[in-house]
Amino acid sequence: MSRPSRIVVVGASAAGLSVVEGLRRGGYEGSLTLIGDESHLPYDRPPLSKQLLSGEWSPERLALRSPEAIDALDLDLRLGSAAVALDAEAREVTLADGDRIGYDALVVATGTRARRLPGTDSVAGVHVLRTSEDALTLREELARKPRLVVVGGGFVGAEAAAVARDLGCEVTLVTNVAQPMGDALGDELGAMLRDVHAERGVSIETDAMVEGVLTSDGRVAGVHLAGGRMIAADAVLVGIGAVPNVEWLASSGLPVGNGVECDATLHAGSGVWAAGDIASWLDPRTGERLRIEHRTNAAEQGLAVARNILAGPDGATAFESVPYVWSDQYDLKIQIYGRTRGADEVRIVEGSLEDRRLVALFGKDGRVSGVVGVNLARATRGYRKLVAEAAPIEESSAA
Ligand SMILES: Cc1cc2nc3c(=O)[nH]c(=O)nc-3n(C[C@H](O)[C@H](O)[C@H](O)COP(=O)(O)OP(=O)(O)OC[C@H]3O[C@@H](n4cnc5c(N)ncnc54)[C@H](O)[C@@H]3O)c2cc1C
Repeated sequence: MSRPSRIVVVGASAAGLSVVEGLRRGGYEGSLTLIGDESHLPYDRPPLSKQLLSGEWSPERLALRSPEAIDALDLDLRLGSAAVALDAEAREVTLADGDRIGYDALVVATGTRARRLPGTDSVAGVHVLRTSEDALTLREELARKPRLVVVGGGFVGAEAAAVARDLGCEVTLVTNVAQPMGDALGDELGAMLRDVHAERGVSIETDAMVEGVLTSDGRVAGVHLAGGRMIAADAVLVGIGAVPNVEWLASSGLPVGNGVECDATLHAGSGVWAAGDIASWLDPRTGERLRIEHRTNAAEQGLAVARNILAGPDGATAFESVPYVWSDQYDLKIQIYGRTRGADEVRIVEGSLEDRRLVALFGKDGRVSGVVGVNLARATRGYRKLVAEAAPIEESSAA
């Protein structure tokens, strides 16, 4: 097929922006529509649980590009406009206002939304943290210095707990695993992180399941734990992961499961591509299906999709990368390259847990699968290539 003359991108955030920029940079001069259900120009989410929540940044600093830079892309920009259906055969997207937009190539970049605790949607004082509005509402809540229960000890929960504590709130972090961020960091590093939070005065409940919230006059008053215990709270932040925004694709016939299921080139079939948090693709490095919720992955996949669309079906190449994610908590800067979940060994190769400055290699089946750095950013980056090469961990840690 010749180069598409109409390209539509649904989802106006990190991945969607990266697609449209990649297309224009790659010389695409055809019609380019960017559809987003939020009313904002594309903005960045990582600061929501960090600089925006703490009050260090104003919302304007979240903008990924200036209005002028967006203008220069010459887009048909549809903000505040949700795509509600896709007819992949007719190659048409339907918007909430009934508009139908035809395309030759479509990119799905609709990301994920926060998973909620069932039955808590209309309870005042129960928060999630996914959008700038969520972050500003939570920030207002924290200014009243509530007793805050954070449900979930992943990235978002642990970061928000740190910010809330620094703002003077009484914070309890409840996680269903043995350590905060234990899935990503493993036991030893997770225990270090738990100590850091505990020293700062965060009360931590591990291996605990929240079953629901307790309310009083329509407002949250606490959380129930499995086993019958209750923790009193004036506010609750639910940070229990994210759900891919795939519902609008239900009748499209596209392969949709845990995300949009693509081949190794991020193509889902019939001229439809996916990028960012929503894309589940066959990772050529491992042969496994992966879906990654990291900021850099969204940008890299957006560019890869743009390249592949412009290259045409015979020129498209597999998307390969070393995943990268970071987390800031108090004065800790944590960096993770590669995959740490499911590792069968962890070796500290620089620094120490006591100093809270270290680099640790994570290994699976004798090969380096990931590297975690704490307050040693440059050194950590130096180990990235071991992940890319899946180097033998024995030799790598002996060096
Ligand atoms: C609080 C927080 C902190 C984070 N911190 C980090 C971090 O420190 N490091 C890191 O690497 N990553 C972090 N992340 C993850 C990172 O933000 C995501 O990986 C990234 O935002 C993914 O970008 P995306 O464009 O794929 O999806 P999203 O950012 O989810 O954007 C998708 C967009 O599509 C819109 N949309 C959805 N459905 C429709 C529809 N039907 N029609 C039109 N528009 C639609 C959504 O409203 C949204 O605007 C964090 C995320 C959060 C929420």
